[in-house]
Amino acid sequence: MDFDLTPEEEAFRSEVREFLAANLPPPAERSKLGADFINEWWRKIREKRWIGFDWPREMGGGGGTVMQQYILKEEMLNAKAPPLGSDYTGLGWVGPAVIQFGTDEQRKRFLPDILDSKSAWCTGYSEPGVGSDLASLRCRAVRDGDDYVVNGQKIWISLAHIGTGIYTMVRTDPDVSKYDGISCLLIPLNTPGIEVRPIKSFAGDHFKDLYNEVFFHDVRVPVANRVGREGQGWEILCSALQRERSGIAEVNRHHKALERLIKLAATSRIAGEPALENMEMRKRLAAFDARIEACRLTGLRVLTRQVQGKLGDSDASIGKLHNCNLLVAMSETAMELLGGASPYLGDTEASVGRGKWQIGALGWPTTVIGGGTPNIQKNIIAERILGLPKD
Ligand SMILES: Cc1cc2nc3c(=O)[nH]c(=O)nc-3n(C[C@H](O)[C@H](O)[C@H](O)COP(=O)(O)OP(=O)(O)OC[C@H]3O[C@@H](n4cnc5c(N)ncnc54)[C@H](O)[C@@H]3O)c2cc1C
Repeated sequence: MDFDLTPEEEAFRSEVREFLAANLPPPAERSKLGADFINEWWRKIREKRWIGFDWPREMGGGGGTVMQQYILKEEMLNAKAPPLGSDYTGLGWVGPAVIQFGTDEQRKRFLPDILDSKSAWCTGYSEPGVGSDLASLRCRAVRDGDDYVVNGQKIWISLAHIGTGIYTMVRTDPDVSKYDGISCLLIPLNTPGIEVRPIKSFAGDHFKDLYNEVFFHDVRVPVANRVGREGQGWEILCSALQRERSGIAEVNRHHKALERLIKLAATSRIAGEPALENMEMRKRLAAFDARIEACRLTGLRVLTRQVQGKLGDSDASIGKLHNCNLLVAMSETAMELLGGASPYLGDTEASVGRGKWQIGALGWPTTVIGGGTPNIQKNIIAERILGLPKD
């Protein structure tokens, strides 16, 4: 495993840095420009083919390597640049599914809007009582001529209320093994018979309107919107989950969180003493630094396997588990340091750090549960890496 960049990769990093220095205005100026800035930014990076940079060039992407994509993301995060395109789900797994399993007609129909930040896909896997055991999903699609007729319910669907389409797993055949009876449909959210109901979150306004229930009442979906073969849904879903879980980009966020945590510790007290003089706290902060490095190396190992074309979903599970454990531990340490000093007051002057830590503490369960819970990642690691028997 060689983590040194090649001369070509170093040159690419310089190109990205130069572009950012020349084109990214300081944050204060950006907020004054508002939507004009973001639209112009996406136009510029689209022109450079940095949106969908790792997609094949003939499909509108940049044809970049996995390593270049990592460099690009890292530099963008360091510069606090806006995301590489607005359709996170489209770019993350819907587009790649269409590229890998879809038809040429589907590629022409769906990929340009994803790259041009015109679409907003959401992911329709979970159902009431069907989250971890996704293969048991019940939402039913029955073939009727050139259409499927879809009936059922999905739940926890992030951003469905502002989405343009839902990438949905449905049961097309209840009479075969549960893994073989699932198919993948791309369904525009304005199709008659779809109802989206927002779910209220315990975290109040900060996570307001993020999650939704989606109901399908006799929704007609053309067979031409099915990605892959009938019954190939499980394979498509596993490939998408692997992409969703692999994120090395988290490391940068952890570094920034640790910097903030050390600043918080510098102004906090434990049992009347300055927190930074408390040996247990000092050890804990130092251990966070080591754990971030472990996350970085795990991420690079996942990348190396991706470059070698060998990535299995268990690799991404190690990364997700590590990242989530660290996120939770840092968040809990911050709440301990705050103690009774700062009840949750929201984003106000009176609230330490404008309530950022408290908002983070209310938000971490979403990151930890979304994309598969830690228990599920542990099951994958136990069975597929350690070879332990299934219980
Ligand atoms: C912020 C957020 C965003 C989400 N966005 C989406 C989305 O956009 N689209 C979508 O389809 N879904 C989404 N989800 C749903 C998410 O994927 C599920 O909540 C998650 O997979 C867990 O499923 P569940 O809620 O049904 O819990 P369950 O599966 O019922 O799990 C409950 C508990 O039991 C444990 N458990 C279950 N099975 C096992 C097992 N075999 N071994 C050990 N422990 C087990 C779990 O770890 C968990 O602690 C989102 C969830 C959240 C929180």
